[in-house]
Amino acid sequence: MKLDLQYFEDMEAKIPHGKVRTRFAPSPTGYMHVGNLRTALYTWLIARNAGGTFILRIEDTDQGRLVEGAVDVIYRTLAECGLDHDEGPDVGGPVAPYIQSERRDTYKKYADLLVQKGGAYYCFCEKTEQENDADPKQIVKHVCDCPKLPQEEIERRLAAGVPCVVRQKIPATGTTTFRDASFGEITVENSELEDQILLKSDGLPTYNFANVIDDHLMGITHVVRGSEYLSSAPKYNLLYESFGWEVPTYVHCSPVMRDAQHKMSKRHGDPSYEDLVREGYLTQAILNYVALLGWAPRGELSEQEFFTLPELAKAFDLAGISKSPAVFDIAKLRWMNAEYIKKLSPEEFYLRAEPYLKQAVQSADIDLHAVAALVQPRCEILSDLPERVDFLDRLPDYDTELYVHKKSKSDRETSLAALEAALPILEALEDWTNDSLYAALTALAEKQGVKNAVILWPLRVALSGKAMTPGGATELAALLGKSESLARIRRGIELLK
Ligand SMILES: [Zn+2]
Repeated sequence: MKLDLQYFEDMEAKIPHGKVRTRFAPSPTGYMHVGNLRTALYTWLIARNAGGTFILRIEDTDQGRLVEGAVDVIYRTLAECGLDHDEGPDVGGPVAPYIQSERRDTYKKYADLLVQKGGAYYCFCEKTEQENDADPKQIVKHVCDCPKLPQEEIERRLAAGVPCVVRQKIPATGTTTFRDASFGEITVENSELEDQILLKSDGLPTYNFANVIDDHLMGITHVVRGSEYLSSAPKYNLLYESFGWEVPTYVHCSPVMRDAQHKMSKRHGDPSYEDLVREGYLTQAILNYVALLGWAPRGELSEQEFFTLPELAKAFDLAGISKSPAVFDIAKLRWMNAEYIKKLSPEEFYLRAEPYLKQAVQSADIDLHAVAALVQPRCEILSDLPERVDFLDRLPDYDTELYVHKKSKSDRETSLAALEAALPILEALEDWTNDSLYAALTALAEKQGVKNAVILWPLRVALSGKAMTPGGATELAALLGKSESLARIRRGIELLK
């Protein structure tokens, strides 16, 4: 077979050199799982830390798994997260195309080149397709006589269009050593590596082959990927060696776990990035949290927990990447999110909270800005809000057991007395504000010689029908307005009688 060597020379000439180049290479699945977001973030951080180039490549060679609109999810997520790419399908670049299905011809040419260089062979065996893209952890040894076929027989079959795959030719003996930035040096016996399929009979490359070709042709200097691919790394090394190419720096990251035993998975109900956003986590909080899932700042930053994206880009280093699996701790993320919410300006918080507040509060009489101000300091995630403020629209049915509260020295009797004493005072109150309500009610408590809570607790229950509210009694009364507040207090008296 005659190869067009000029083609390969032209391809080599296009490869940019001299700068750090990283890529995020997702498959368009329709969502971004947390591990994927972390890979995107780390690759972006490596590039930005070094003043390098961040590339987006779409790996859509597995045509069976394509989901419509899925590529848009990738663009949208990266944009929302501020992970801007310098090269990619939408912005172009010197080594386009950046979508694998558009690079199909390239893989075939490089597979033929690799055969000529002795690193692969045409395999005409039947029933090999089930091995394609099989679980990369499974070692499926393929042994056949195809590598020993006479050259003219191979030429004859190829010319006749006999279906074939291209397999990597792994040396039968010896070892292959591979270096990873976080796992260090790993040596494997070649006898444990299988002659993996590189090009399928339909001409499409396997995941492993397409990655090596694209990473080389795109001048990628650092490859970040999941540690589940560690076992295939030596085969990558052999491919680079056969081609005579420089091996990029590999950075394998331990998986993001749901618990000690299980990897996070969308299929098992673990949240994707989109799910978290929908639940009311802020993108900055998610990114901050995800950055620390498997990476820790060092030196004087080692105690720091909160990082903006530019701060991360400055602090990020490969040495801080951990080898041990990271457990995704939703409680920690909730806490971190609450801290980010507290730091928002009232206007920023209102913009984000409004849709959630409106799910529960439709009444035009309620000032949502005031509600937002009340809930902001104790809000962990935005989707908690409807349930916390739904009483504003309509007093829920509630049990008078709520009036019994040891800490406030309240029971049904004291509560009834408190509401009955407060009612005429509030009926007469003209300035219906938090301050004046508070002054009037604490004066009542003082007059009666009881603690403030004896008056304020039952009032809070009467106004909300809940044990937990986003504000105190007078704040709730101010929000609800005079006539609604008085109606609820009268309702409380009725229930307690
Ligand atoms: Zn064969």
